[in-house]
Amino acid sequence: MGILGVEMSPQRNPRASKSKASPKRKHYRRIATEEAWSIPEQMDAQRELVATTKEYDPDLFLWRIQTDPNGPVHHKLLDLENMRLKEMDKYDVEMHLLALTSTGVQMMAPDRAAAVAETANDRLAQAIQHQPDRFSGLATIPVQDPPRAIQEAERAISKLQLNGIMINSHTNGEYLSERKYWPILEAIEGLNVPLYIHPRAPIPLMAKAYRTDHLEHAIWGYQAETGLHGLRIITGGVLDQFPKLQIVLGHMGEGLPYWLYRLDFMHGRVRIGFDRPKLKLTPSEYIKRNYFITTSGMNWEPTLKFCIEVLGADRIMFAIDYPYQDHEDAVEFLDAARIPEKDKQKIYHENAERVFRIKKAKSTGQ
Ligand code: MN
Repeated sequence: MGILGVEMSPQRNPRASKSKASPKRKHYRRIATEEAWSIPEQMDAQRELVATTKEYDPDLFLWRIQTDPNGPVHHKLLDLENMRLKEMDKYDVEMHLLALTSTGVQMMAPDRAAAVAETANDRLAQAIQHQPDRFSGLATIPVQDPPRAIQEAERAISKLQLNGIMINSHTNGEYLSERKYWPILEAIEGLNVPLYIHPRAPIPLMAKAYRTDHLEHAIWGYQAETGLHGLRIITGGVLDQFPKLQIVLGHMGEGLPYWLYRLDFMHGRVRIGFDRPKLKLTPSEYIKRNYFITTSGMNWEPTLKFCIEVLGADRIMFAIDYPYQDHEDAVEFLDAARIPEKDKQKIYHENAERVFRIKKAKSTGQ
């Protein structure tokens, strides 16, 4: 999930309404890998949570906007084949890898969560069947009920042929590194599909510290929450147990790539009195073995170059974070990035084809 609020209105970026698809734009097979959508059933469930929750909740604060039919993103989330395809065409984006917008079904009561996840996955599979060249998708699972989450993950991958699983960070304040969720991770590893850990607002304890100036959302809190989640999967020993699990993080890795040196140094050296699992590898070795990152919402060349240097271009994929951020900014950023052409091909589509098992284009274009 990206930025929300009035700044999302088309007026924010005057270029967006003026510019047309440039005939000079170089053609790539652009596959955008963190693109949000919604279904009325998700909207209804979240609207009920907004109406019945009295205390401040950072996620519901945004859901109040998302569920508003007059708000800036509501109609864009519910749309697949109208505005969305037009936007994609305008910027020569061939495919959206869709996922039910954060917080997925993770705030709902378990029965509701299971029902909405099933409906969402069925409808996603139908949307892909209708536009197989334009859409692919990640399944939603009811994490709060691990046996049903596993069942739905298996159905979504084996029967519906979706391309992976998305989980929106914590569930009821708990991370996937806790033992009760390990069977879910084992199942995802066994299905041989990636797990995309998408942001949501931090767990309540952390969010409290970010409340001042509303730092608990995309400006800082999402990254703090999701980076911590990604790190705890490493330090909790999960990846020694499930070494083939592949995890995708958005927003250029939610801060983790920048911190690799210090993670390795501190995890290896400062042990006295610390009770934490011994790991087979260093934290950075897990990041380089088990993690992919996407460019969602982080249209910045210095970070991209840094991530190519420390992780390699094989581990980076293009994403827009539609409808929270714009096609134009994401495409112009990567088109203009001064990186090797072969890396650009990997980031725009080759890695996504491999990681999410998306069929290669019939003709490769250029
Ligand atoms: Mn997002």
